[in-house]
Amino acid sequence: MPFVIHGLPVSQGIAIGNAHLVSHALLEVDHLLIAPRHVESEVMRLEDAVAKVRYELRAVREMPTTAQSEVAAFVDLHTMLLDDPMLVENAARLVRERRCNAEWAVVQQMEAIVDDFDNIDDPYLRERKADVIQVVERIVKALLGHPGHVAARKGKNGLDTIVVAHDLSPADTIHFKNSQIAGFVTDVGGATSHTAIVARSLGIPAVVGLRHIRHITRDGDIVIIDGTRGVVIIDPDERVLEEYRLKRSALELERNKLKRLKANRAATLDGFEVSLQANIELPRDAAGAKDVNADGVGLFRTEFLFMNRDTLPNEEEQYEAYRSVAKALAGKPVTIRTLDIGADKTLSSGGPRPETNPALGLRAIRYCLAEPQMFLTQLRALLRASAHGKIQILIPMIAHAHEVDAALSAIEQAKTQLRAEKIRFDEDIRVGGMVEIPAAALALGMFVRRLDFLSIGTNDLIQYTLAIDRADEAVAHLYDPLHPAVLRLIAQTIQTGAKAGIPVSVCGEMGGDRRFTRLLLGMGLGVFSMHPAQILQIKQEILRSDAGELALKVARLLRLDEPEKIREAVDKL
Ligand code: PEP
Ligand code: MG
Repeated sequence: MPFVIHGLPVSQGIAIGNAHLVSHALLEVDHLLIAPRHVESEVMRLEDAVAKVRYELRAVREMPTTAQSEVAAFVDLHTMLLDDPMLVENAARLVRERRCNAEWAVVQQMEAIVDDFDNIDDPYLRERKADVIQVVERIVKALLGHPGHVAARKGKNGLDTIVVAHDLSPADTIHFKNSQIAGFVTDVGGATSHTAIVARSLGIPAVVGLRHIRHITRDGDIVIIDGTRGVVIIDPDERVLEEYRLKRSALELERNKLKRLKANRAATLDGFEVSLQANIELPRDAAGAKDVNADGVGLFRTEFLFMNRDTLPNEEEQYEAYRSVAKALAGKPVTIRTLDIGADKTLSSGGPRPETNPALGLRAIRYCLAEPQMFLTQLRALLRASAHGKIQILIPMIAHAHEVDAALSAIEQAKTQLRAEKIRFDEDIRVGGMVEIPAAALALGMFVRRLDFLSIGTNDLIQYTLAIDRADEAVAHLYDPLHPAVLRLIAQTIQTGAKAGIPVSVCGEMGGDRRFTRLLLGMGLGVFSMHPAQILQIKQEILRSDAGELALKVARLLRLDEPEKIREAVDKL
């Protein structure tokens, strides 16, 4: 029976594919589609890993210990689980039938077994669930020591894979960059959570906040995601499938048409020139920015370099990453934000201690100032890379003048060290700050005096102005970019920057949302930064707009404070 569920649209487009039900743990392994010719060697890889674990267990059993009988009991149990066809044989079948990589297959099989355990009455047997998980962890570890083949491109007629999960962290989602995931749907999540942001940067349709999608979908079901309307259809009939295939082709056609705007300068009808820059998460995303001829990188979220790993990237590795983006952009500005870890972005290697309210805790610049050595390493890498392009440094989450002073003096310290070591860097490197805490927008003077540019992070500015967790679907309906308080803070920041003669950009999601382009233009915004996939759409809006006319209309709009009236006025712009 087909059924339709509505959630929060977070990444546009249409995806059609087979559901792959996953849990959070499952996502710690890559999800790859194995080329048909590599399937048998992938099965062998799985069997080798199982043999290795069997050998390891034997070694554990032979170790001298005072708890000989307990060790023997658990080793026997784990060996028995390893021999159980339910686990390894069925995982091998998944590799053969679904062409999953071995890690993914074995974890999926574990999920199936563990789900059954939950229904067992006998407490002893139920507790064996942990043993199954431990055995699978051992197999995955053995597999990771012997990486398999690179993911194959999916066949033209093969159906795509759609991930169905209760929740996905940004660290999980960034894994999809290496895999063949066509889209994802989750029970929880908000539209400007970092998970949603990564989905947009991958260009894969996604709908979140569906509440029970993981329970009502079966593995292998056909799923349609309409990431523009926030609709998910499970088990559609042939007529609906055909309708969505047509819609998907029409969208593709539209995207291709937009490519004609690549070489055009982004200027309004009355000649107001706008800079359209790209938001990136990883160095390889610079290629996407170049593809659409972005005017620079307006936001490089460096925290993604720090995720999914046991140790922090050292200076050399960071230098290479920043240098490669600077070089790829060939002289265009590359705005690199210093580490913004905390809230929904976490590190496997430690990071800020878990807090009761992480969005208000030791996040972003607060965390960097608390970890001066780590901060200095990043600043040295950034400065060294600045010898290879036009890098500028962006400090996230500023609220206090002393935070900016401390960050600037850390930059000075890094410069002094590099000078002493005779290492080249850009002496005039520009340093900016993110306006994403209302306090910064309201007391902008103290920041304007200290910084070379400002960038408005509307995602957090809205979150902190309205006290709405941006990642929580339960309050998503209250997350309102058009709230009069939000609009005033944005407009005020743009005006103050203009008066002081320092550039202001918007790099939050509002910058890439065409519903708000004319509003921001009318406020006088000259730099928009967004995911590369949104740049041509926004350029199209700018080419059709008259900045002078919009300025008059927006000035009137900003005097309104009735939500309905504001909405109406924005629609009419
Ligand atoms: C923002 O808050 O708008 C922003 C761009 O930063 P992030 O989304 O990474 O918090
Ligand atoms: Mg932010």
